Amino acid sequence: MDASEFRKRGKEVIDAIADYYENLDQVPPMAAVKPGYLYKLMPHEAPEDPESFDDIQKDIQTKIMPGITHWQSGNFFGWYPSNSSFPAMLGDMYSNMFDVIGFNWLCSPATTELETVVMDWLGKLIGLDKRFLSIKEDGTEGDGGGVIQGSASEAHIVAMLAAKEKVLERIKADGSVSEDEADAMRHKMVAYFSDQTHSSGQKGTNIIGCKSHTIPTDANFRLTKAALVAAIEEDKQAGLIPFFVCGTFGTTNTASIDDIPGIANVAAAEHLWYHIDAAYAGASLTCPEFHPLAVGIERADSFNFNPHKWMLTNFDCSAMWVASSTHLTNALGIHREYLPRVKGETAFVKDYRDWQVPLGRRFRALKLWFVMRMYGASGIRAHIREHVRQAKWLEQQLLADGRFEIMVPVVFGLVVLRIKPSALATSGDVAVKESTVNAANVNYSKLINADGRVFLVGTKLKGVDAVRVAIGSTISKQENVELLLQVLKQSAAEIISQQK
Ligand code: PLP
Repeated sequence: MDASEFRKRGKEVIDAIADYYENLDQVPPMAAVKPGYLYKLMPHEAPEDPESFDDIQKDIQTKIMPGITHWQSGNFFGWYPSNSSFPAMLGDMYSNMFDVIGFNWLCSPATTELETVVMDWLGKLIGLDKRFLSIKEDGTEGDGGGVIQGSASEAHIVAMLAAKEKVLERIKADGSVSEDEADAMRHKMVAYFSDQTHSSGQKGTNIIGCKSHTIPTDANFRLTKAALVAAIEEDKQAGLIPFFVCGTFGTTNTASIDDIPGIANVAAAEHLWYHIDAAYAGASLTCPEFHPLAVGIERADSFNFNPHKWMLTNFDCSAMWVASSTHLTNALGIHREYLPRVKGETAFVKDYRDWQVPLGRRFRALKLWFVMRMYGASGIRAHIREHVRQAKWLEQQLLADGRFEIMVPVVFGLVVLRIKPSALATSGDVAVKESTVNAANVNYSKLINADGRVFLVGTKLKGVDAVRVAIGSTISKQENVELLLQVLKQSAAEIISQQK
């Protein structure tokens, strides 16, 4: 394909993308195919001779499209949103154009420096403490800074690696423990999570080879200071070495917020690395009215949120900041002659390869830069506030209906609900068994998805089955949520009538 052919075909692809978005709400959000459908439609060898663009384009429509789950549909309410936007796509097109591997400054100076600039912009936009910025307000260089990871899971891993570095440094400081003895202590190191922490925390400990301690949350699904203190005491008695704690700002199941300042106190007293996972709800901090919920994050060692979830930026874009990069870069920096460093005078000259697991990295800052410029802070805030408004509207409608229970108060765009036990009770039967209520609510989420007009996922909260509605698709409008309410009510009526 030469440049003139690319010009023609590229325009066709842009047209196809625009058509897709314009018609997205006309199709069911969930793919209706059976496992293995594509294998049957595909040749079993790669083509020997070049094939035409037209043939591939046709296959996109006839073979790929039927198997796509439409995450960008306004009627998709599953998991957490995975926002896309046209400005982010345009930025990513430029990233594809340059296709640089920007692992250090020399590889592509603009790639490194734009990342540092936009991460400072974003840090300021969400009200992060200046400890997390690369360049302080007075123009001096900080030891902290931001980096774009591929995912919150990667942020978890690198935060734990930095934490390990920090605790080993402390253990070795008095000279009584040799390098080898200190390394062998890895298996005694313990990281703290709650029973609501995302699975990526556990995955991180598996990768690092340390222990993890899962702490039960309180009735509001929050990790509390008291529970953390008790877990640490128990582990210290057993000769373990506490080194890391994760607090979540907006958990996956319920969007609950851990005791962020309480955990900060414990982390400081016990010399733990304090990582805050705000993968989903961090985007809300672009709106100042959410800042009171985030008191204490200024005391964390690392903080992460995913603009690719709820801040209009196509996957992958996970924004992570550290208050001090020393332990991180000590843990991940490995020198080779073919990876020359260029040390400049400011914090803009970062070797981002030392801030992440892989060596190579895409020019992801471009799409974030496009989003921040083309929406502006005001546009980003409007996007967040509209979804919060929709979620609160849905909560009110469901409460007013009388048949539903809202499992946790709605704070962001997540509504967790179930058909309440009293609505499922037959006449004269005041109490319905919890197992019956659970079974009915499991069937409820299946029935909603079988309807096909909307898509959501069920969950289990401390033994109670519920339905999760995550509002936040870029194109989600009031009419999408009204359709959802209609399906929620119709399906509930059917489940209740089956019960009686
Ligand atoms: N943390 C939380 C609270 C999440 O909800 C999720 C995913 O939904 C993750 C981490 C994992 O995000 P990623 O896919 O970017 O690793």
